[in-house]
Amino acid sequence: MAKTKRGRVLWSLPSRGRGTCPVCSSTRIKLLYPRAKSDGTAVKVCKRCCNAPQNKVDAITG
Ligand SMILES: [Zn+2]
Repeated sequence: MAKTKRGRVLWSLPSRGRGTCPVCSSTRIKLLYPRAKSDGTAVKVCKRCCNAPQNKVDAITG
């Protein structure tokens, strides 16, 4: 299986896979972990937040 969270593949992603985490507001962090809000909206969160409780994900606005 190809590594999709490190190395060259990241450079092909928008913003090279980095951005501001909507859960913990860390800037320039790698957003590689998809989470789904209860309303079905897909959001990308950082490594620290991939195991965040669902209520933290649901609290994301926008
Ligand atoms: Zn985060």
